[in-house]
Amino acid sequence: MAKRYWGFWRVPLIVAVVALGGGTAAWAVLSPTGGDELSGASGVLTAGFPGQMPAPADPAAPTVRLQPEAFALAEEPAVDCDKVNCVALTFDDGPGEYGDALLDLLAEKNARATFFYLGPPTITHAEMVNRAAADGHAIGSHAARHVQMTEQGPAGACENAATGGQAIEAIGLPAPVLLRPPYGAINGAIVAACPQWSFVLWNVDTMDWSTKDAVQIMERVRLDTKPGSIILMHETVEAELTAVPLAIDWLRANGFVLVTVPELFGGQAPAGERVYGGPAPTVPEVTPGQATVPVIAGSRLPPDTGEVPAAAG
Ligand SMILES: [Zn+2]
Repeated sequence: MAKRYWGFWRVPLIVAVVALGGGTAAWAVLSPTGGDELSGASGVLTAGFPGQMPAPADPAAPTVRLQPEAFALAEEPAVDCDKVNCVALTFDDGPGEYGDALLDLLAEKNARATFFYLGPPTITHAEMVNRAAADGHAIGSHAARHVQMTEQGPAGACENAATGGQAIEAIGLPAPVLLRPPYGAINGAIVAACPQWSFVLWNVDTMDWSTKDAVQIMERVRLDTKPGSIILMHETVEAELTAVPLAIDWLRANGFVLVTVPELFGGQAPAGERVYGGPAPTVPEVTPGQATVPVIAGSRLPPDTGEVPAAAG
């Protein structure tokens, strides 16, 4: 039960520990950027913390009890996606063999993302999924069975979604509201049949599952990302371990701020709707593509055949 509220406890507890432990030195450890920028200040506290409660220095010391209701997330500077160019990295098909390495990379970059986990491996990789949540990432469901929901009919699709969500609940996390339909296969009848879900699609498809190549993943990010974009990636593609840190650096160099999908929508993605991206801010504007694209050794772009790639998801 405690893990359910861990996400709400974490930030105020860190602040309290810093305050009790004597201030700026501890703060500096937790906040290597010094909190001098909006994205850094937000990302550091959540993604940079290892996700474990610090052990008390003296077990005999009196316990300081903190009530989670007494601390709002106001302690953490919120990213206002109406004012900055937010973008959300999303990872499907996990949890799997590259999951922990990916979480390590995101932690090193103080970047948060959104994970859409399949039901059965969520149970077998419960520790990884709980770590992702503790690291500050948003957790959504990728359903229980990786099938086209449009082939299941509304009732079957809703059951598939519900079963996937129950797996996340079963390991002690809050019931998810974000659903990434496998292959993006969704229709209005399914949305109407189970409107408690926010059906999160995407407007940047890295095609990573097809190319399995970091430089081609980067090309899609570079060419297609706009303010408010939701970028589709897959935790199961090894090339993402090369592409993700480069993509993060490139996005930040081009004025984007990495947020979770709920943050794209001011804290909660709309339920009963299909969303492809968040709202774009009016100010400040950037022109993506200004910063240098990283060079990735051992890869090269394929010839442009003009063919339309197959659907992902
Ligand atoms: Zn998938």
